[in-house]
Amino acid sequence: MRYDHSIAQSAEFLRLALKRMMQQQAGLHPASYTIWYQYVSGVNRPLQTVIDDLLERQGPLDDATTYNLYAQYVATLGEKSALRIGDSVTQLVDQVAESATEAGDHASRYGHSLERWSDALLQPNAAGSHQLATGVTDILRGTREMQESILTLQERLEASTREAQRLRDEVARAREEALLDSLTGLVNRKGFDDALKNCLEGAPTNSPGPCLLMIDIDHFKKLNDARGHLFGDKVLASIGHILRTNVKGKDTAARYGGEEFAVILPQTPRGGALGLAEALRAIIAANWSKRSEENEGQLHGVTVSIGVADYVAGETVNEFVERADRALYTAKLQGRNRVTMAQSAASGKGK
Ligand code: GH3
Ligand code: MG
Ligand code: MG
Repeated sequence: MRYDHSIAQSAEFLRLALKRMMQQQAGLHPASYTIWYQYVSGVNRPLQTVIDDLLERQGPLDDATTYNLYAQYVATLGEKSALRIGDSVTQLVDQVAESATEAGDHASRYGHSLERWSDALLQPNAAGSHQLATGVTDILRGTREMQESILTLQERLEASTREAQRLRDEVARAREEALLDSLTGLVNRKGFDDALKNCLEGAPTNSPGPCLLMIDIDHFKKLNDARGHLFGDKVLASIGHILRTNVKGKDTAARYGGEEFAVILPQTPRGGALGLAEALRAIIAANWSKRSEENEGQLHGVTVSIGVADYVAGETVNEFVERADRALYTAKLQGRNRVTMAQSAASGKGK
């Protein structure tokens, strides 16, 4: 990230960040400074929201939480993998350059010996059989050296190609990890934003969809208060599992934030989206009422409310999300544990 703050502004942010850092349990290291600088300067809204939530829920941040926040909301690639990949690439380039220089040296030595030999042959009366034999030996040695160095170069290039492929895979894996939420195994908010943007950019104009589901756990705060946050986390992970199992193929299920989830259905008409939403709602409700009977004693069932919107041509990503969010809000107002379809659009330009 680039920071466009003047010296005076950044000095003020430094002072505010330090004050915040001193109130935490984490060390005063650069990871801690970065997240608090971004927090006090307001350049990273998602980070601010999650920090506020954590402070409220569990008080001062410790080292593990600080590094987690840094990895999830600041670094796009893990610092370690970035360094490791950088080192390997440098090594790779050095090796190939070294082999190429060697092959080049040999080629130029070979060229010189050819020149010398042809000069010698051109001398009047010079082509005695001894001189010819020496010349041929020279050329043969030169040829062998050339062959060897070209072979070495080939081997190194093959090894480099394999290494480059390994590094590409590692970068792809690190990117994927950066877009995953570790608790639920779903894509995180950044993964959701990317997927929705791609989905709207690539949406064919004459096919159904896309549709969007916004899902929010009902009375989750009460559940946390009654059963503790670890139990709350178990509920989040189990809903993540249900979404992963039931949302497949081109569709994307994401943890949108805290206790909210979202599902993007790029090519599903509204009827199909409503059907899936209803099925998910029912599976989640049944899953937890069964558990509560079997092993959780008097735990009330865990339910979710879902807002569904189908895309209206021309609306922005934010407008689309807001409509699904408003439908979710309506579902909450109407009593929760239900699915509500969004209005197509105030202007009536819906499909
Ligand atoms: P509503 O039915 O209106 O959605 O009520 P609610 O209590 O679910 O909604 P509210 O927004 O008031 O509270 C959401 C709660 O979710 C508060 C917050 O502590 C909790 N929460 C957010 N993220 C996590 C998490 O990662 N783990 C746990 N255990 N709780 C979380
Ligand atoms: Mg919520
Ligand atoms: Mg909720």
